[in-house]
Amino acid sequence: MKLFNTASRRIEEVKPQKPPAITVYTCGPTVYDYAHVGHWFTYVRADILIRALKAAGFKPQWVMNITDVGHLVSDADHGEDKLEKSARREGKTAWEIADYYTKDFVLGMQELNITKPAKMPKATEHIADQIKLIQKLESKGFTYVIDDGVYYDTAKFPRYAEFARLDLDEQQAGARVSSNPQKHNPSDFAVWKFSPAGQQRDMEWDSPWGTGFPGWHIECSAMSMKYLSETLDMHTGGIDHIPVHHTNEIAQSEAATGQQFVRHWMHSDHIMIEGEKISKSLVNGISLQEVISEGFPPEALRLYVLESHYRGQSKFNWDGLQAANNRLDDLRAMAALRWQPRGVTHDMPTFALEEVATTLTDFLANDLDTPQALAFLSQITTQLLTVHIEEDMVDHLGAMLKGIDDLLGLNLSAVQDISPAQKELLRQRETARANQDWKLSDEIRDRLKTEGIGLNDAARGVIWYPLWLSYKPSNQ
Ligand SMILES: [Zn+2]
Repeated sequence: MKLFNTASRRIEEVKPQKPPAITVYTCGPTVYDYAHVGHWFTYVRADILIRALKAAGFKPQWVMNITDVGHLVSDADHGEDKLEKSARREGKTAWEIADYYTKDFVLGMQELNITKPAKMPKATEHIADQIKLIQKLESKGFTYVIDDGVYYDTAKFPRYAEFARLDLDEQQAGARVSSNPQKHNPSDFAVWKFSPAGQQRDMEWDSPWGTGFPGWHIECSAMSMKYLSETLDMHTGGIDHIPVHHTNEIAQSEAATGQQFVRHWMHSDHIMIEGEKISKSLVNGISLQEVISEGFPPEALRLYVLESHYRGQSKFNWDGLQAANNRLDDLRAMAALRWQPRGVTHDMPTFALEEVATTLTDFLANDLDTPQALAFLSQITTQLLTVHIEEDMVDHLGAMLKGIDDLLGLNLSAVQDISPAQKELLRQRETARANQDWKLSDEIRDRLKTEGIGLNDAARGVIWYPLWLSYKPSNQ
């Protein structure tokens, strides 16, 4: 399997240390608000990586953290803790905020059919591990203490600028005024922050240096190495993690262990919405619940994500989501063919149903080429909807759907047969159409629609397929 590696800026063969096992760490959400579609793009893409690795014969051990403390508003080391800020906004404690949005995130993962990681460790449950790692860095001379915390001295790690190709001189010139002037270098970052004087935070702990909380970056180093290995086979995240968060993870981890931290880095590019990068500060974050309440199934968002390549800038807009949803209807109609084989088809498809999953696997093994995989899937869908299937193809189609679901997570195997009463309605509609009774034909179509069944009047006869509302309790 080949995948672009951010570290080398080249497409490389994926080579874990102990195949078929492969350790993968993903930077998880900061649980201070609902995840927005931009976040979900990144997590769906991480999920596709895991599915592609499995299909390529690897056994991924996947860990995704939950950041529930220490992520400051600026991403650097100043400004308020995002959790404490949300707590004030909502009149709750930071603990309640973390609990609520963690549960919402996990629910969103289930709705989007994202593979369940082996572990989702929380930063607040690993304070001792983080303190131990800071002590290790301290004993090796990589840290210093100033009035607001313990900092990592980036000048002591000569490779600091390498990963992100940073221009540290430029950073020096552009150093923010709001950053602590006691810092030795502008790129130095906090591994432990002290609670502000005279102020008690909801989340704070004792440490050898004073009461406070861990910096954002140290949790990922501590938890990934604890649950996986000192050298990770793969690490994923969003592209905006490269210059600060992942650069700092590398500096901390490699200084502590003296070993390479990550062999293969994968980063998902930005998502644009109406031409702007999605971020909470732009107040244009759209949550998964908003997508669902607009009438779209989570699978439509998933399909939308897969339509773009993870290394290209993608955009989100409602028209694009509608187009993905139409495409999903076609896929479900194709899946429903399993329940409506014809006695004799006039033509056979030009491809073997048994080989579809292999072809899709090959596309994913080529730097996760999901756009090509979907283009291929559309081709075979169009063909099957034209020629229909015969009885003896039903099992092959079932196996093909399972293969597609394993790779792309679109839940096509979940498409079930309609009831005998609905089949009777379909027969009545066929009769009405034969008698050119269009009024009755339309009435039956509308009735089936309210029951969650869509109809596709194909050249060789009608094909029914399940609509999204058949997955949700209807209000009617
Ligand atoms: Zn991280």
